[in-house]
Amino acid sequence: MYPRDLESILEKVQHVAKDVVAKNAADVDREGCWPEEGLRALQQAGVAGLTVPMEYGGLGHGSFAVAQICELLGQECASTAMCFGMHCVGSAVLSAKATPDQQERFLQPIAAGEHLTTLSLSEAGTGSHFYIPNTRLDAVSSEMYQITGTKTFVTNGGHADSYVVSTVAADPDGPMGEFSCIVVPANSDGMNWGPPWSGLGMRGNSSTSLTLDKVAVPRKNLLGEEGDQIWYVFQVVAPIFLMAMTGTYLGIASAALEEARIHLLKRQYTESGTGLSQLAVVQHRLGTLWGMLERTRRLCYHAASSFDAGDPDALPTVFTAKAEVADCAVNMVNEVMTLTGGLAYRDDSRLHQLLRDARAAHIMAPTTDMLRTWTGRVLLGLPILGV
Ligand SMILES: Cc1cc2nc3c(=O)[nH]c(=O)nc-3n(C[C@H](O)[C@H](O)[C@H](O)COP(=O)(O)OP(=O)(O)OC[C@H]3O[C@@H](n4cnc5c(N)ncnc54)[C@H](O)[C@@H]3O)c2cc1C
Repeated sequence: MYPRDLESILEKVQHVAKDVVAKNAADVDREGCWPEEGLRALQQAGVAGLTVPMEYGGLGHGSFAVAQICELLGQECASTAMCFGMHCVGSAVLSAKATPDQQERFLQPIAAGEHLTTLSLSEAGTGSHFYIPNTRLDAVSSEMYQITGTKTFVTNGGHADSYVVSTVAADPDGPMGEFSCIVVPANSDGMNWGPPWSGLGMRGNSSTSLTLDKVAVPRKNLLGEEGDQIWYVFQVVAPIFLMAMTGTYLGIASAALEEARIHLLKRQYTESGTGLSQLAVVQHRLGTLWGMLERTRRLCYHAASSFDAGDPDALPTVFTAKAEVADCAVNMVNEVMTLTGGLAYRDDSRLHQLLRDARAAHIMAPTTDMLRTWTGRVLLGLPILGV
């Protein structure tokens, strides 16, 4: 089976982005509220099963489609893009080795737009080394596990129907990256959420912390085999997650560039009657910014298509794409703030929000530092994770 036609999916997303997401973006940022209406509209538009295989009713797409959709959403509201992106990553991790029972309980409802999921890897202790969880997974009977630990920055926290949670492997002394992933249904006994998320940017993300206090989860919710998650990290999590973020930050960069273009066309000086857009230096700066965005966008989509096509050498390109887009988004918004002058510096300006949202790009793991290092390690023939 071939994935559903991407053009028609993008058209649906574009409608949701313009009609629902854009309308709510300022409120989501100001109030720091989770973008419920946008996410429900995406579910209703039939795109929530984007990364679920077609045999379970999904759309069967991979990282290229995730990046494209997140770019469309990110142009209007980066929080909505990130929340939807994390749902797509969670769905992809669930899909990778789903048992028939998991297909029925999770994948089919996701594809039907009735179940929202998300990925919960980060912990305070190990920070951006998200592949080394401390959360414990103990077998308490032949049927049940018990999970104990604290997760941080759970995007969609408190709003998703399930959480794909990483835990230590059966052998905690095993090599780095050998952890387990398990689906924890929302509202399981022993789940306690931290204070509401209040961030500099990405203010609708609901990236709250989650304490799991002896949470009982059926063994049939384990994804793959105990301890085989290194495979998930580099074959599923990294590419789809990186492309969700890449698309989101491309959206921010392209929204900022459009703000600049509109402002330059509008700004007129009373003393001369000429416009800002008539200055050669300004034209030059706008052209340079467009070039930065265009080459970054092309790298990102090339990385995503190479990964989806199964290119064995795609990973360093995927790593580099997110690092480059982080530089591009932060530099773009920064430069556009200069070009658009005092208006952009007001605290109710769109640029103000874009600047705050863009700044998460370097911080969200895998961070820019880590991605550059991983790329270097691949080039040197070293294992990606290591010292
Ligand atoms: C808005 C937002 C949403 C998020 N959503 C999620 C989510 O849905 N799920 C989830 O699991 N996590 C999520 N996170 C967590 C995120 O991915 C990071 O894990 C977290 O921000 C790392 O935080 P830290 O402060 O502990 O970083 P630290 O580990 O303290 O790192 C600080 C700095 O040191 C650098 N550094 C650390 N180690 C190395 C190294 N080995 N090599 C080179 N440089 C290094 C880092 O690059 C970083 O710049 C989110 C974070 C944010 C801000």
